[in-house]
Amino acid sequence: MSVQVNNGVSTSATQTTPLWLLAEVTYRCPLHCAFCYNPTDYDKHTQNELTTEQWIQTLRDARKLGAIQLGISGGEPLLRDDIEEIVIEAKKLGYYSNLITSGVGLTEQRIQAFKAGGLDHIQLSMHDVTEDINNFITNTKTFQLKQKVAAMIKAHGYPMVLNVVIHRFNIDHMKQILEMAEAIGADYIELANNQYYGWSLVNRSQLMPTREQLERAEAITNEFRATNPHVKALYVVPDYFNDRPKKCMNGWGEVFMIVTANGDVLPCHSARVLPNMQFPNVKDADLGWTWKDSPAFNQYRGTGWMKEPCRSCEEKEKDLAGCRCQSFLLAGDAEAADPVCTKSPHRHLVDEAIENAKNPQLQAQPILFRNDKNSKRLIAGELKELTDKFHALP
Ligand code: SF4
Ligand code: SF4
Repeated sequence: MSVQVNNGVSTSATQTTPLWLLAEVTYRCPLHCAFCYNPTDYDKHTQNELTTEQWIQTLRDARKLGAIQLGISGGEPLLRDDIEEIVIEAKKLGYYSNLITSGVGLTEQRIQAFKAGGLDHIQLSMHDVTEDINNFITNTKTFQLKQKVAAMIKAHGYPMVLNVVIHRFNIDHMKQILEMAEAIGADYIELANNQYYGWSLVNRSQLMPTREQLERAEAITNEFRATNPHVKALYVVPDYFNDRPKKCMNGWGEVFMIVTANGDVLPCHSARVLPNMQFPNVKDADLGWTWKDSPAFNQYRGTGWMKEPCRSCEEKEKDLAGCRCQSFLLAGDAEAADPVCTKSPHRHLVDEAIENAKNPQLQAQPILFRNDKNSKRLIAGELKELTDKFHALP
């Protein structure tokens, strides 16, 4: 194979396919989750959402590039009234489509329309078995509604797929969470240990469990798996507690393409925090060019951009050096080794965060809930005391 150089990336690396298109169709959301991964400055992007026609064109363009899995996400996608149209187009184009929802706004009428339109999959977020924690962590009263929505999804013959973000407030309920999944007929439950980006980075000391809690939760999950093999339980270990980073998004510009509410095209959810990057927008850039040739999508593809210790590390192909956003947010250097790695000179930042999470004073700080008012305050720089220790927040 001939090797050309494109922004330091060989063509073998640019011959990748965006198999996964995640459409973050809106940043509006009726929930206010403390752990939300949406950008803390999302309020900047709520006024200029793509139109239905622009989304449909984006779906067509991505399909031509080889995208096959479509995630329809947000914010809460059901706050848009054109999801039915998007679903119908996705079906026509041959996507496997997945609606990722809090359940708020899912009515009998809408689910019937989704079924008729060919929506393949609905992933429902749940927060806890207790009404108190559900309502506390989302800063809403949505517990009862989620139970009803779960039953509705099941009644329409969809696979029952639950996603539960795990943090200090619910991790000790793992056994009951798994029993709840069993009781409502879940086929699949993703126990997604919190990752620290966006709002959850701001609330990190309040949300992070201890290593002991994580180990106990994993042991409970393993026991559950042994006795309930019909429910697939995926336990995603948080990277802070590992000694090597995750292969973020399976590699920059390898298989994931995210189109945000206003049409920016990103290789991962939080890439907009990175400095000196111009992410193309579907309103004015060809999607094929964006994926294959844009400087932004080539910036961290492959391994050519790495510096030491990653450049000469034998594990670099395995993790492609972890997460660029995490390196920048914690260490202030987007090209540094992911600070999760024990070979990184910045690992102490992760260890300090784990220690801080045991500090009762820091644990007891008020949570900053994800809402428009707080996003505006962060944008205005009013909460510097919360964000100063991180780079590029909001
Ligand atoms: S995590 Fe919560 S607040 Fe954030 S988009 Fe999802 S439901 Fe909304
Ligand atoms: S030094 Fe870099 S490439 Fe090696 S394991 Fe750590 S993050 Fe990965």
